Amino acid sequence: MRAARFYAPGKPLALEEIPAVAPGAGEACVEIKGCGICGTDLHIALEGSIQLPKTPITLGHEAAGVVAEIGPGVDGWKRGDRVAIFPNVACGACYACREGREVLCLGAQVLGVNRDGAFADSITLPATCLLPLPEAVPFTVGAIAADAVSTAYRAVVHRGALRSRESVAVFGCGGLGIHGIKVARLLGASRIIAVDVAPGALRRAREAGATETVDAREGDVAKRIRSLTAGEGVDLALEFVGLKASVTEALRSLKRGGRCVVAGVGPDRVELPPLRSFVGSELSLLASMGFTREDVKTVMGLAASGRLDLASSVTDVIPLAQINEGFRRAFAKEGDPIRIVVVP
Ligand SMILES: [Zn+2]
Ligand SMILES: [Zn+2]
Repeated sequence: MRAARFYAPGKPLALEEIPAVAPGAGEACVEIKGCGICGTDLHIALEGSIQLPKTPITLGHEAAGVVAEIGPGVDGWKRGDRVAIFPNVACGACYACREGREVLCLGAQVLGVNRDGAFADSITLPATCLLPLPEAVPFTVGAIAADAVSTAYRAVVHRGALRSRESVAVFGCGGLGIHGIKVARLLGASRIIAVDVAPGALRRAREAGATETVDAREGDVAKRIRSLTAGEGVDLALEFVGLKASVTEALRSLKRGGRCVVAGVGPDRVELPPLRSFVGSELSLLASMGFTREDVKTVMGLAASGRLDLASSVTDVIPLAQINEGFRRAFAKEGDPIRIVVVP
């Protein structure tokens, strides 16, 4: 089978013929029908800001496809089943797994990070990673439902606990933020203020349902969010950037009793406001990491019923042979892509 192999940061992925892996006990082999290019892939392959434990490795962790082969002892799946792939292979034994929080698993292996991913003709992995992909959801949408959409879904719904008629500010309108906006709109947010530094991203944010936009290059973001909310600030600020500056502004844009959820990851150290205002205003600062299997199922159900439009999130579809060009375009934000999906 063909696979896009990563050797070192800055080097193009090598499209190689490697042997397909026959599924062992409890495993399935999935023929890949779509795999999204995520920011994480760009951090690994182009920036080198995420280092991998072993190389070469096949990248790609946002995938959907069709069950091609099943190993011994796998129940509930058959050849030809449409599936989306849960990208964390959890140990199933640690306290996080026992509590149903597999994404926090102490021994998790992530596709395209710790083990071979899905920029390939097929992938072999534990059948516990398979999720049913509804007939009404195209493979390209199923591919991005896990990760790009579900990460935002968890941040808004579970960690942010957004209620209808609350006001929201979304910091960062890339692949995660755009879906944060779509989910906030679905939940009935009264107003959704989108913040970014790229005019293209802000335009896309309005298309996704943002009621107002703030260009962060124009200075004092929190002040402008306050002026848009009659001086009050927002109930919920969602940070999808992963920078100290945007976490600071997100906290400053909250009303009394407001919550700030950070889903952006990076090396920055952040500072709390002075305790007299942090405690005095009873603010919450929460982190949101990944998503659960249930989150992905819910997102796919919302997509299948048409309540969540994700077709518009697939900016482009490219063949595996053009993956390096796809990485370049995603990295340069050429044409402001939300997700470019690779179809082998
Ligand atoms: Zn990702
Ligand atoms: Zn575990």
